[in-house]
Amino acid sequence: MKPTIATTRAKLLIKGIVQGVGFRPFIYNLANTYNLNGWVLNSSEGVYIDIEGDDEDVRDFIENIRKKAPPLAVIDSIDILYLSPANYKSFIIKPSEEDPNKYIKISPDISICDDCLTELFNPNDRRYRYPFINCTNCGPRFTIIEGIPYDRKKTTMKSFKMCQLCQKEYDDPSNRRFHAQPNACPKCGPNVFLENIDERINCEDPIKKAIELLGQGKIIAVKGIGGFHLACDAQNDDVIDLLRKRKKRSLKPFAIMCRDIDKIKQFCIVNEYEEKLLQSVQRPIVLLKKRPESTISDLVAPNNNYFGVMLPYTPLHYLLLDSHFLALVMTSANITEEPIVIDNDEAKERLAGLADYFLFHNRDIRMRCDDSIARVYEKQTLVIRRSRGYAPYPVDLDFTMKEILACGAELKNTFCLTRDNHAFISHHIGDLQNLIAYNYYLDSIEHYKMLFRIDPQILAYDLHPDYLSTKYAFSQVGKRLIGVQHHHAHIASCMAENSLNEKVIGVAMDGTGYGTDGNIWGCEFLLADYVGFKRYAHLKYLPMPGGDMAVKEPYRMALSYLHNAFDGELDDIDISFINRIDDKKISLIKKMIERNINAPLTSSCGRLFDAVSSLIGIRDIITYEAQSAIELEMVAESDIIDRYDYEITDQKGCLIIDVKKMFCEITSDLKNGLSKGIISAKFHNTVIDFITNICKEIKTTEGINKVVLSGGVFQNQYLLANTIKSLENNRFKAYFHKKIPTNDGGISLGQCLIANAQLTEDF
Ligand code: ZN
Ligand code: ZN
Ligand code: FE
Repeated sequence: MKPTIATTRAKLLIKGIVQGVGFRPFIYNLANTYNLNGWVLNSSEGVYIDIEGDDEDVRDFIENIRKKAPPLAVIDSIDILYLSPANYKSFIIKPSEEDPNKYIKISPDISICDDCLTELFNPNDRRYRYPFINCTNCGPRFTIIEGIPYDRKKTTMKSFKMCQLCQKEYDDPSNRRFHAQPNACPKCGPNVFLENIDERINCEDPIKKAIELLGQGKIIAVKGIGGFHLACDAQNDDVIDLLRKRKKRSLKPFAIMCRDIDKIKQFCIVNEYEEKLLQSVQRPIVLLKKRPESTISDLVAPNNNYFGVMLPYTPLHYLLLDSHFLALVMTSANITEEPIVIDNDEAKERLAGLADYFLFHNRDIRMRCDDSIARVYEKQTLVIRRSRGYAPYPVDLDFTMKEILACGAELKNTFCLTRDNHAFISHHIGDLQNLIAYNYYLDSIEHYKMLFRIDPQILAYDLHPDYLSTKYAFSQVGKRLIGVQHHHAHIASCMAENSLNEKVIGVAMDGTGYGTDGNIWGCEFLLADYVGFKRYAHLKYLPMPGGDMAVKEPYRMALSYLHNAFDGELDDIDISFINRIDDKKISLIKKMIERNINAPLTSSCGRLFDAVSSLIGIRDIITYEAQSAIELEMVAESDIIDRYDYEITDQKGCLIIDVKKMFCEITSDLKNGLSKGIISAKFHNTVIDFITNICKEIKTTEGINKVVLSGGVFQNQYLLANTIKSLENNRFKAYFHKKIPTNDGGISLGQCLIANAQLTEDF
């Protein structure tokens, strides 16, 4: 019985992730529990609730909002205003309201929930084996949203009219599918179909047919939630070899998908934290240690001690893996570094030479979104690629930001938009090195601006003049542009996610970053805060013979370092490296170094890893980014404490690290037949040692003991773990990336913070 006269009325505004997560039905049911009248409403700003009834009931209702909120809801704030009663007669859900100036957070795509999964495999359910089953607790969000507020008509589900049964669920506040925008069933929703390059394959069950074809060693392009995957049997060497040839990807690891944890444990070592991460609603690809007895093809992740494994996250994936496969390769469907394919027509065009068959569906993808990649380090999740499941959820900061667009870097690009205390760091855009990627970048920026209603007048960009992201910034007429040094941005990004706002010792171990002196930086010790930095120390500059060619051909850097170590006398070094590299190439590169022809100077840590990797015979020429460093890490033995020698000198107030002696010592180790595993470990230990020593030096003069670690080289677990250990042994507090990638995917966040601080400083 509802009370006829209400004594208390409260109007609430709830902010956070409260739309598309079953929040209104939850409020509806909660209001009914307490016999309250009034209404609930989705607005562009959040959820408004107007509620009245008995005083105690109103208070209990408010208290239970946080306590009992649906699993995917994230409540940031609840504003309460008490008013005089309006005499509502019932509790209703009002139609959504739009205010062009307000915005809300948008939920990422969430993996299928247990309830839906049970229905999927229940022969008596009307959605038995229906690949688009979802509810308010699961399913696609970000990738299908075309506009806000989040309503079916502003998603790519708008073209599907719900049948009577679906509509009934949608309208019933007590149903799990109440206002589930992508709600659908086999009668009214999207469907899957199988095609080869020419035509539709006639078959009763396209998914069963696809399983059959996968079993015959075919490659199938499977349309998922944020784009297409190329799928094939992960135990079949021949098909993986074929996929590598077609994709022009000779060695870079492929991700695999596996039905459940028990199956994963047959070929990987999985601890309880990794298990949790695999099963989280974000369902990232998790890097897991291979078991030696693994029966997964060696071609899946050659020269690597890890597999990138994920659990299924859509009903379609579950149906595909409800089969005899131990695991399927599920790699982004694209050619080399182009963005992932999302359209059916586009798939036929761009994947023609890659896939034998196409498992299509007719629900459009508005925003492409790659799989995220993460790993566990000491019980903590380290996100390496922040995309599906995480984006577009923002990073929340401790202070208010101006509206800024940070354009990001070139490789592994993300951009970042800020307003209030939120930094909306984008999903993974990829390498901005071709037109398709650049157009995807432009479209994504506009989409985020629209979704979060940000119209940035300030743009932050990387100092590298050739980055497409930098060129984009300069193409935006009438905006205020702020250039940010690459490694300063790395450090600021790591500071932000660790809530640091003070002067720190920033250690950036990185591949390539444009320096303020025009040289290529990458092993940098910065005394930094958000406003600025002082370059305190760096690796000695050495020539990079051939510029970008030296990145692709690490042996060039090995020659550069040998040239430095032996004062140009390369002829007498009797090691297999010198005998392996063509004499003509050696003399040409020697000339480039000595006469300074196309040999820009670099202090890059990535190039140092390249040099050692090539020198000891691991990798002379790479086929994917950072391959030489990754393979060098993979061979490192774990119980070695020895290291090499190096020198630190003070040059005009900047400390210079010269590893000349290390290269001489590695050369003798090679002559003495020391194993690659031991040399690699000694090399890693040397880097850790000079990092620690420089930090001690800065601590002595500046009295700072907080060390912030960032840059792509810290993806190296041996380096990261042992640097942290060494710093902590020396009473430093070490901070590193967890939520945001340590690689260039994290740059945009740092750019925002620096631009914001510099502007605040100005006024
Ligand atoms: Zn569900
Ligand atoms: Zn239906
Ligand atoms: Fe970088």
